[in-house]
Amino acid sequence: MTDTGRLTVIAGPMFSGKSEELMRRVRRATIAGIDVLVVSHSLDTRSDISTITSHTGVNIPAVPLGDAASLAEAARQKDYELIAIDEAQFFGPELVPVVEDLLIRGLDVIVEGLCVTFDGQPFEPLPSFMAVAEDVLRLTAVCTVCGKDAVFHQRLEQAENPNRPDAAQTAQPPEATLAATEIDASHIGGLDTYVARCRQHFTGAE
Ligand code: ADP
Ligand code: MG
Repeated sequence: MTDTGRLTVIAGPMFSGKSEELMRRVRRATIAGIDVLVVSHSLDTRSDISTITSHTGVNIPAVPLGDAASLAEAARQKDYELIAIDEAQFFGPELVPVVEDLLIRGLDVIVEGLCVTFDGQPFEPLPSFMAVAEDVLRLTAVCTVCGKDAVFHQRLEQAENPNRPDAAQTAQPPEATLAATEIDASHIGGLDTYVARCRQHFTGAE
């Protein structure tokens, strides 16, 4: 019987270095001669979608896929030993059974993504993966107000005008009215759209 695979989770808010850490692990695996499939989500249009890109601009090649079923299909195309998934939250809860199947078949999986929404709520499927992983790396960013550990990220407009009740409606693009857990383009952005915040300076849930 084949040994089962190992699940590693890299989770945190935006800017916490999740993609940097995923890329570091993929590079090491490649040097070790391990056959890796690197997957990004085709919704992530911050850069060329055939790469994973960090906020520092470093990138590695990746296969952009639209849903969990396509990921399952892509993983069957070759004798991969490791599947590395960037921005896993975009794949939604359907990713959980797909990853379970890969692990049972003996593949190692690294799932990397946001474990918290921009309004401070748990962001599935990362919390579910964290519950059953062999290894969890929980990262924090740097709070843009005080420099302490940031476990949250929030929309810039909301951060600048936390007391304006209509801030969310007037200062944001139409897709911003969607729920924070919606799998859509409102979760894509960089320093121009989001800021990292510690617990004390997080105002997104107000
Ligand atoms: P993630 O994938 O978690 O969003 P990245 O790996 O893409 O993060 O980028 C992490 C990099 O972002 C850091 O090494 C740093 O250069 C940069 N950065 C910009 N703003 C912040 C911040 N507030 N806290 C931490 N890193 C930041
Ligand atoms: Mg990233």
